[in-house]
Amino acid sequence: MADPTEINSVFWNEEKKSWDHKMIQVEEYHGFVECQQCRRPLSHNIKTGGEFKVVYVECGCSRREK
Ligand SMILES: [Zn+2]
Repeated sequence: MADPTEINSVFWNEEKKSWDHKMIQVEEYHGFVECQQCRRPLSHNIKTGGEFKVVYVECGCSRREK
């Protein structure tokens, strides 16, 4: 599997009081953590903007409303 060049991350938007998405450019890819339930990626360890970050994504079972 090729490393992703960008990731559609999910984050809590405090102004909108809801979940929101943002495309994050990946400079270096360092793997992911998988969901215990659906076994799909839940968060990715990447470098973006010169910083190491953990970005969260929607896994297969995150369709439920919060
Ligand atoms: Zn899941």
